[in-house]
Amino acid sequence: MMFYKNENALTAIVQLSRLELSSDYLNKKFNDHRLYTVAILLILIPLGLAEGVFDYKSHPEIKSELLQLRLYFILLVIPAWIILKSSSLKLVTAIILVTLVFSAYLGIRIIEHTGEDLVTTVSNVALYPFFIFFVLIGFSIYIQIFFLTVALSYVFLTENHGVLDELIQNAYFQISVQSSVSTLFIMLVFSWSYYHRYNLQLALEKSSQTDPLTGVANRRHFDNLLKSATTRSARSGVECSLILLDIDHFKSINDTFGHPTGDRVICALADLCVKQSRATDLVARLGGEEFAIILPDTNITDAENLAERIRKHVEDISVAGDAGEIVKWTISLGISALPLNKSSANTTEIVMEMFIRQADSALYEAKNNGRNQTVLSQ
Ligand code: GH3
Ligand code: MG
Ligand code: MG
Repeated sequence: MMFYKNENALTAIVQLSRLELSSDYLNKKFNDHRLYTVAILLILIPLGLAEGVFDYKSHPEIKSELLQLRLYFILLVIPAWIILKSSSLKLVTAIILVTLVFSAYLGIRIIEHTGEDLVTTVSNVALYPFFIFFVLIGFSIYIQIFFLTVALSYVFLTENHGVLDELIQNAYFQISVQSSVSTLFIMLVFSWSYYHRYNLQLALEKSSQTDPLTGVANRRHFDNLLKSATTRSARSGVECSLILLDIDHFKSINDTFGHPTGDRVICALADLCVKQSRATDLVARLGGEEFAIILPDTNITDAENLAERIRKHVEDISVAGDAGEIVKWTISLGISALPLNKSSANTTEIVMEMFIRQADSALYEAKNNGRNQTVLSQ
């Protein structure tokens, strides 16, 4: 992703630093990387055990203690399993942090046994920050940096305890700092690139749900939301209303004033519907000059109030034609509500179909009764 102005990069950094604290972003980031984290934890098991072979070669005299420590790597299946199954980011974060603390402790114990041997333990010190990155790949950058700092401080701790010879301690320290700084750099670049992917995905998602002419939801998004509203109502019995509205004699507006003016009428109506409805309602353009509004937690009387408010506002507004003419129009509306009166043990699909069909019949009736009116489904 390129930046043409410096302030754009700065804005992006500020936005990224905020997103890295927001739960929606973190949940998505974690779920996108859940399998990586699990795979890395599982890969660490044979890697950890296999390193025992080197221990055995270099320290045959302490092989049983080392082998015992290495067997603890098998325990990594536990966090791997929890991370694979749990949907709670808090639990998963706690589990992974405990795992890292435990594995750092194991690493220190192994170094204690083989500490004087620079060659065999150097990998523990050098690779640990990189493992932190891979294991924490789906977590907040703040947690990654926090843990990197904790890992670095372990080196100081071992120094304070006088576990290691000073020269070796210095070598480990140098390696730790170098690998931590490299890891920090990789973490930052990775977060930056994920942030751009996230924004791109959001933009794609938004455009796949939006009607390009009016900016309200499109048919696809309407279908999805109507389905979840129907499911929710079926499950908990909450009310939900649906308004279908259609411009009266729209064909003659197009014929008289031209298609571009017709488009302006459609946009003005969409704006009006959005302004009049609540943030929790969904305004969608179903096609042509027909719109729908899904009203969750709303009974048919309240839906009628909104429908009438919109209908009366439409009578008051106008758009300008290409030659400056004042173009006015009216709308007809049909309303249905959940739960349906005659609902028996029907599937969500059937209820949804009836829900729409009832609003559609009401709209049809409004048209037949002379237009510019609201009809409630019986
Ligand atoms: P009724 O009162 O029965 O609803 O009559 P109507 O003329 O509004 O209904 P009809 O369905 O016959 O006409 C809809 C017209 O809408 C026909 C079509 O050319 C026009 N239309 C569909 N999509 C668009 C669009 O995106 N822009 C414009 N300007 N017109 C469109
Ligand atoms: Mg029409
Ligand atoms: Mg129509």
